[in-house]
Amino acid sequence: MEPFEYNANPGRVVFGSGTLKRLSDELARQKLSAPLLLSTPQQVDQANSLKDVLSGKIAGVFTEATMHTPTHVTEKALEYAKQTGADCVVAIGGGSTTGLGKAISVRTGLPHICIPTTYAGSEMTPILGETAEGKKTTRTDPKILPGTVIYDVDLTMTLPPGLSATSGVNAIAHSIEALYAKNTNPIVSLLALEGISALTSSLPAIVEDPRSVPARQKALYGAWLCGTCLGSVGMALHHKLCHTLGGSFNLPHAETHTIVLPHALAYNAPAIPEVMQKLGQAFKVPGMEGEQDAIKGINLLLTKLKVKRGLKEFGMKEEDIDKAAEIAVSNPYYNPRPVEKDRIRELIRRAWAGEEARADL
Ligand code: NAD
Repeated sequence: MEPFEYNANPGRVVFGSGTLKRLSDELARQKLSAPLLLSTPQQVDQANSLKDVLSGKIAGVFTEATMHTPTHVTEKALEYAKQTGADCVVAIGGGSTTGLGKAISVRTGLPHICIPTTYAGSEMTPILGETAEGKKTTRTDPKILPGTVIYDVDLTMTLPPGLSATSGVNAIAHSIEALYAKNTNPIVSLLALEGISALTSSLPAIVEDPRSVPARQKALYGAWLCGTCLGSVGMALHHKLCHTLGGSFNLPHAETHTIVLPHALAYNAPAIPEVMQKLGQAFKVPGMEGEQDAIKGINLLLTKLKVKRGLKEFGMKEEDIDKAAEIAVSNPYYNPRPVEKDRIRELIRRAWAGEEARADL
């Protein structure tokens, strides 16, 4: 066994169906009485449902959370938090709303209770990405990690099948990269493999029947584990590529992760034979029984999820491939296989064209 270091992130997790009702108790535990509720404009109804759960005892509701946490939105929310005398923030939504909760909490010290409604996993990480004047910067600080996370499976029932699929693959990507992280460790590997099994078995069932409660439970459980992996160890090529593509070509977050993941895995495969073997066993995609090839498994998963496979379908131009490859190799970072520009260009080209992943990168 290799020597390792392990740091546990402090944080309280409440998981189940109907757990939203526990919000008052969670506030009382921390002697908090004036929460500022946060959501995106699309989730105003869910934010208002929190108001009902708390019998109207809130400081206010701010429903302008936006993808990539623009600082001008954070400043507006901060001003509102001050005016209303909020003593904590309660963020209900996906990674965009969680990002706003983190941005307010780290600037003010206000406690952050997070109620995730997608599978992105931000709620389990001490990482915050923010944009100012079109430039995205990411920082890590233990103070960014939400203190309490309430997972309520009921809230995920409204997540559309397409977003459930891509958000779930976004979560799988955290676990795959955790398995070959520079600072990986046995605990994180256990969480990662369990998270991958839970998501690969449940996501196809959700796409078939978005109201399936057992599938939704399993997916949210998997997302929690995958988010924990993202919050615990460093990432590599896949996350670097998605960050570059999203930031430089304005591509959507979860969809980009979904398209790039099979190719990033195929690229790294020759350098991580043991991980590939474990992954092949952990993939529980219906229809791959007896088959333990992780690359075939991820191709099959994406077929079953009926997701878009090409970055060109989201507006990326063919001439951007060279620029993307240039940016992706411009700063050195850890990856199990050395990052070679020509191969990375071919990886991005395949992702752009929407080809299936092949083990010949
Ligand atoms: P999102 O939060 O942007 O949500 C996408 C859309 O779906 C929004 O309109 C949202 O209101 C809606 N939605 C969310 N849950 C819903 C539900 N249950 N029912 C109906 N509609 C729902 O998407 P996301 O993929 O969760 O988050 C992406 C953002 O999170 C990106 O900015 C990304 O960089 C960030 N992120 C950060 C981390 C981190 O650790 N810092 C991790 C993952 C993602």
